[in-house]
Amino acid sequence: AVYPDSAATPHALLQMADVAMYRAKTDGRGIFKVYSPEMGNKMRRYHYLLEEMRLAIACENFYLSFQPIVHVENCTIDYFEALTRWDHPVEGAIAPAEFIPIAEESNLILELGDWILLESCRQMSAWYNAGMKKVKISVNISGIQLKHRAVYDWVMNILAKTGLPASALMLEITESTLITASKHIIQQLEKLRASGVTIAIDDFGTGFSSLSTLADLPIDVIKLDRLFIAQANSNPKYNEILHSISELGHKLGLKIVAEGVEEFAQFELVKSMGIRSVQGYLVSHPESSVNVGHKVLQDNINFMAATGTGVWNIQR
Ligand code: C2E
Ligand code: CA
Ligand code: CA
Repeated sequence: AVYPDSAATPHALLQMADVAMYRAKTDGRGIFKVYSPEMGNKMRRYHYLLEEMRLAIACENFYLSFQPIVHVENCTIDYFEALTRWDHPVEGAIAPAEFIPIAEESNLILELGDWILLESCRQMSAWYNAGMKKVKISVNISGIQLKHRAVYDWVMNILAKTGLPASALMLEITESTLITASKHIIQQLEKLRASGVTIAIDDFGTGFSSLSTLADLPIDVIKLDRLFIAQANSNPKYNEILHSISELGHKLGLKIVAEGVEEFAQFELVKSMGIRSVQGYLVSHPESSVNVGHKVLQDNINFMAATGTGVWNIQR
């Protein structure tokens, strides 16, 4: 931090130097950083949101939204991804892309994540009892949770508490978390799979794992990152990669889900590659539980009783 540009008093100057040091640490240690006002803003925002998040957990200002993942052939619902929403009393909606990393860095994700899994299973249990016997709820789990929770017991306890069968739960773990997970964590996930829980590798294609590692991971589902879907129609290379992943996935007996399908052309493309499940704004934005109830449970009872799932009508 440099006088007088960074700060006008010795005390403030030291504080700004501290901000720069903090930034250097988070950007990867062993480097130096020169203070800039943008750094200060980022730091203030971080601490502000951290405090607000503590309050929000206590006041239950979080809620879940649900995005359906459907079969390409008939739009029957395969599962719902639970996505966390934060309704801040002053700021309005704060995006998960902003608050989840802060929750992870501060370990608040542990407390928040307990609520997320419990609430997701509670909601799915209600839908299950209403007839959605073949539908799963899919919950995003962060690497911090895998490290600090005794994962097997943690998940099984919540399933028992909410009365949800293990077969109705899926956990989404990002590729980068899975490929760096310890042996112990992988064993815990294997145990969960053996009990009937489904494991998905999320944002696949962004974590730089080689395709061969897929065979060794404890997974059932590959969620292809939306980067591939966004590029595939215009970039032949992405199209080729998409094709290879789809082929290999099938050979390994893994189910493949295409994320971020926004256009009909993308829907047709992934369908032509043999991908059976899609998620994206074309099908539906994430919806409140009330809207899901209206859409799936009403007028659908007979179909659901016969099939264990509902149809998600796409509005075009
Ligand atoms: P994600 O797990 O990859 O979740 C999918 C994100 O893509 C969601 O954003 C969803 O709203 C968005 N999305 C769905 N369809 C489309 C589409 O067609 N186009 C585009 N552009 N986006 C689409 P969201 O809800 O903002 O969440 C962002 C990320 O925050 C998630 O990415 C996930 O990494 C994290 N996140 C959200 N909720 C949770 C949670 O409960 N726990 C944890 N650990 N992470 C969460
Ligand atoms: Ca996800
Ligand atoms: Ca994803």
